[in-house]
Amino acid sequence: MTDFSPLRGAVAGPVLTPADDEFADELSGFNLFWEHTPDVVVGVTSADDVAATMRFAREHSLPVRVFSTGHGSHESLTEGIVLSVKRLSGVSIDPATRIATIGGGTTWGPVIEAAAAHGLAPIAGSAATVGAVGYLLGGGLGPLARSHGFSSDWVRGFSVVSGTGEIITATAEENPELFWALRGGKGGLGVVTEVLVELVPIAELYAGNILFPTSAVEPVLRAWSAFTRTAPADVTTSVAVMRLPPIEQIPEPLRGQTVLALRFAYPGAASEGERILAPLRSVAPAILDTVRPMPLAEIASVHADPTEPGKSTSSGAMLASVDYRTLDALLEVVGPGRNVPLVAVELRHVGGATRTDVAGESAVGGRTADYSLVAIGSLMQPGILPAVDAATTALMAALEEWISPETTINFAGAPRTADDFARAWPAPVFERLSRIRRTVDPDRVLPYGFA
Ligand SMILES: Cc1cc2nc3c(=O)[nH]c(=O)nc-3n(C[C@H](O)[C@H](O)[C@H](O)COP(=O)(O)OP(=O)(O)OC[C@H]3O[C@@H](n4cnc5c(N)ncnc54)[C@H](O)[C@@H]3O)c2cc1C
Repeated sequence: MTDFSPLRGAVAGPVLTPADDEFADELSGFNLFWEHTPDVVVGVTSADDVAATMRFAREHSLPVRVFSTGHGSHESLTEGIVLSVKRLSGVSIDPATRIATIGGGTTWGPVIEAAAAHGLAPIAGSAATVGAVGYLLGGGLGPLARSHGFSSDWVRGFSVVSGTGEIITATAEENPELFWALRGGKGGLGVVTEVLVELVPIAELYAGNILFPTSAVEPVLRAWSAFTRTAPADVTTSVAVMRLPPIEQIPEPLRGQTVLALRFAYPGAASEGERILAPLRSVAPAILDTVRPMPLAEIASVHADPTEPGKSTSSGAMLASVDYRTLDALLEVVGPGRNVPLVAVELRHVGGATRTDVAGESAVGGRTADYSLVAIGSLMQPGILPAVDAATTALMAALEEWISPETTINFAGAPRTADDFARAWPAPVFERLSRIRRTVDPDRVLPYGFA
């Protein structure tokens, strides 16, 4: 049993073991399915706290895993040290350079709000409650993906603590190899205490979502697939076949129904946005239509993602194309009338700016695909995980013909095999990432997936 009292003396934040009352709270996040029971959780408050923890971990041969909001939890953390980064929060904006300095445990919400006050927006993801750093390390495909690319394309620098406890700056000029890796390489590359992100000025935004009833699921899906083939490069859309749960909070006509959510985001004038959206909007009468001139502060409402913690799992892939037959295959597995335990199956139209790498390149996977696929299962019902896994496997098998050779790590879910994991990046990128991980973390203090 490790004596953690020297660590308590070395860091300013709390060092909690299972014997402490605050232990479970510190490890509670968005996904409540996975219970975390490491030897200790350290609530770091600064880069120095992180560095001291890394040195302690190395001396005692203890693995360190990073925990922020828990949106990316796909397993229980049951050993060693968990580094809780939520206290590394905060955002400051320099309107002259349009650079936001974001703490390593900050969620997108405060960044979006602070940026909007200057008429600016971060190229964030679909949910305000996701951690900015965890998201950016995986690349990040959000509601403005087609107009602005992967979110990590907008990162201008990282402050990171290596596996050896060194505090390093990584930018295009300083430690460029690590900078390349951190923009999409995700884990095992150090603990990020601060990230610099370039914000974009957006004068007008026409965005929101439309919910269509069961009868419209198929026609809207088909209209959307046709729409994406000629969609302007600056319009980002996605669709999700959703099974609304049979619970009181859902109003009666919708309770337990299969519906289709269409999301639309166009960073431009409402009149032009309306014109572009018209062919989709007119397919069928909607249950709800929130597409409107949208204040920048509300951009994370486009997808209407859940914000409250719950129990869920997700799996995903990138698709090279989506056509009439892809939709036949999808509807066969998850269409209305199918009894399948997946609460949402989402297709996002990406491509556009996501296809162009940044100057100097970056490690993000998934640039060659035009669509992403994510299947989400609710795990609120005890014992349902095997059924959700089976449904996801059936869906992936049905869509195999369209699945791209490489996926993207933020949407990969919990890779089950080393091959699955490696598929989140192009093969040469995966190999280069492995070499960089060995340099910044020679003793594998930060174990990561199958890397
Ligand atoms: C509701 C929801 C919506 C989402 N929307 C999108 C989306 O639109 N686009 C998209 O691309 N992805 C999306 N994701 C996926 C999400 O980006 C990833 O799950 C991401 O890893 C979450 O990061 P986190 O810090 O919030 O979560 P956590 O589970 O706390 O962290 C996940 C991992 O991120 C790393 N990490 C986090 N903080 C740090 C840090 N400071 N230093 C080093 N490593 C760190 C660690 O490897 C950690 O294991 C979504 C997920 C959910 C659940």
